[in-house]
Amino acid sequence: MDSRQIVIGSGPAGVSCAQALLAQGRRVLMLDGGARLEPENAAKLAQLSETPPATWKGNATAWMREGMQAAVEGIPLKLTYGSDYPFRAMPGAPLIVGEGINTKFSLGKGGLSTVWGTSVLPFRQHDMHGWPVTADDLAPHYSALLGFMPVAQVSDALEEILPTYGPGVPMPLSAQATALLKTLESNASGLRKRGVLFGRSRLAINAAGVDAKGPCVRCGLCMYGCPYQLLYSTGHTVDRMIANPNFEYAPGHVVQRIEESLAGVRLHTTTNSGALQVIQGERAFVGAGVLATTALMLRSLDAYDQPVTLRESHYFLLPMLRLAAVPGFQRGDLHTLAQLFIEIMDETITPDTIHLQTYTYNDLFEEPIAHKLGAASKVFPWQAFLSRLFLFQGFMHSDVSPTTAAHLERSGTSDVLKLAATLKPETKVILNKLVAKLTRLFPQTGLLPLLPLMREGEPGRGFHTGSSFPMSAEPTGFESDLLGRPAGLSRIHVVDSSVLPSIPATTITFTVMANAHRIGTLVGGGEI
Ligand SMILES: Cc1cc2nc3c(=O)[nH]c(=O)nc-3n(C[C@H](O)[C@H](O)[C@H](O)COP(=O)(O)OP(=O)(O)OC[C@H]3O[C@@H](n4cnc5c(N)ncnc54)[C@H](O)[C@@H]3O)c2cc1C
Ligand code: SF4
Repeated sequence: MDSRQIVIGSGPAGVSCAQALLAQGRRVLMLDGGARLEPENAAKLAQLSETPPATWKGNATAWMREGMQAAVEGIPLKLTYGSDYPFRAMPGAPLIVGEGINTKFSLGKGGLSTVWGTSVLPFRQHDMHGWPVTADDLAPHYSALLGFMPVAQVSDALEEILPTYGPGVPMPLSAQATALLKTLESNASGLRKRGVLFGRSRLAINAAGVDAKGPCVRCGLCMYGCPYQLLYSTGHTVDRMIANPNFEYAPGHVVQRIEESLAGVRLHTTTNSGALQVIQGERAFVGAGVLATTALMLRSLDAYDQPVTLRESHYFLLPMLRLAAVPGFQRGDLHTLAQLFIEIMDETITPDTIHLQTYTYNDLFEEPIAHKLGAASKVFPWQAFLSRLFLFQGFMHSDVSPTTAAHLERSGTSDVLKLAATLKPETKVILNKLVAKLTRLFPQTGLLPLLPLMREGEPGRGFHTGSSFPMSAEPTGFESDLLGRPAGLSRIHVVDSSVLPSIPATTITFTVMANAHRIGTLVGGGEI
């Protein structure tokens, strides 16, 4: 039997697991959908990255913005470099249909980390309900991730509850964020008494531009893709891992089914050409992203028509207005990802942390506002308004967020993963209490919520979803053991968010990666 460890997926889960297996001296074959940016856009990107923004003439970056329109509800589909390649179907792609849910899966190289917002925070032990793995168990793995993923961060008050696990170079703050941070800092003790801790955002961005064309030049294009490729995607790490003789990357494979025997695993894949192939290895590590993994595992277990439950961290957008204008506000000269993080810990609202990310000016704000104003937009005091506008993106714990039932149904010679979301009444109650609290905090923050413009994300829309095969110390049914093996399997390990028992609010991916790295380290090191 082939002694290779087969990792499925080049997203954050697959790459973190592969890195750990390689560090344990194992041979790794990574099978991946592996879709990539179209050559025409890749060529335009290469050209743009060779030149500083001051020399970008006229419409030099217009191609990157194509297809990205914002509405008051947010961005319908976040693209990257003007392309939807991360979401494109391929031969053998799973069929997934949803009711009351709006989500997507990726077959791209780098998975959803090609379009993510790069916010990275660990989970607090306090919020890890039902986890058989502790924050201390994950700690060395969060640190190890910083060896290959750059994180722009500083150690500030957030460190008390959310460790940084290593050094970083912070991203520059915008003028608006600098003004807000000053206000928050001058009221820090009052905010703390009210259960509010804040700090600078932590972003998976190569702020210093080490080994890249950077550093960050504050061109404000982050939402469309960085011309200097400073926003971290796990695809970057795959490109580096290829130099390791123990690593092999095989794009163009969509895994259909995994079988295990006493000797090893057999993976049935559909290749780019539509041909079928069988690949053998010692063990399989499934990091296909929660939706594709759930379909693949239910099929591999022959578990048709048997429901599993997906949990998610509910997502909402709340614009806030600062009464005082921000001197020095400029539309250019800033990055446009999260600037500040604010954590709300108030048991009168909900027992778990609510996570808020603050965004300042971004050109995507202008179109929906202009649309609402109609003809009045010509005389609207844009500068005065935009310099006061802050967009808060919030996340809540999965215990108080919608859930989604998933089951695999046969459909002719193939099958379909059917999803149906269920809302929870307490979600709205908690949101209302939160908005009331944020309004009362006006003396400490200088901000007032623009309640009529608040929008809740549809289920699935926040992409912080998992839990179909949750880890348990004593697994039953579809639950997984501490090494991500569901339903009594011994050589097939699920390493993505599918195995997280619950989803705290403080951003999912850093912990998905730490847990995948933990499983790769333990299995690769022979601790099974
Ligand atoms: C717009 C957006 C913004 C986000 N912002 C943030 C954020 O700021 N912070 C945060 O923590 N999270 C964020 N997320 C979520 C984050 O992107 C995901 O949590 C993360 O990418 C999940 O990693 P993964 O490796 O489990 O899956 P994915 O990233 O989905 O990767 C799946 C991989 O598996 C491969 N694959 C899939 N099926 C198969 C198959 N059958 N055979 C072979 N290969 C397969 C794909 O090619 C891909 O490489 C965001 C997501 C989106 C869409
Ligand atoms: S502002 Fe954003 S897009 Fe521009 S260089 Fe910095 S990280 Fe890249």
